[in-house]
Amino acid sequence: MPQFLFLDMARGQQKIQSQQKNAKKQAGQKKKQGHDQKAAAKAALIYTCTVCRTQMPDPKTFKQHFESKHPKTPLPPELADVQA
Ligand SMILES: [Zn+2]
Repeated sequence: MPQFLFLDMARGQQKIQSQQKNAKKQAGQKKKQGHDQKAAAKAALIYTCTVCRTQMPDPKTFKQHFESKHPKTPLPPELADVQA
């Protein structure tokens, strides 16, 4: 195996390992925050896209999503007067 290829693979491996470490760290932090945070996050996601069922926390995001992802679909009436 050419040396440069091996070095490249080793570098890629290191990257993956540090990503896994970060993911573990974040998971630990999430656990500490507890259930209230989870419930709040769930309650905040109140806008569900009528086309693809993606959930969004506010009408502005919803409108931006709708205009970029479903430009051919008529805007839902509740979004007509949202300033995006
Ligand atoms: Zn959508």
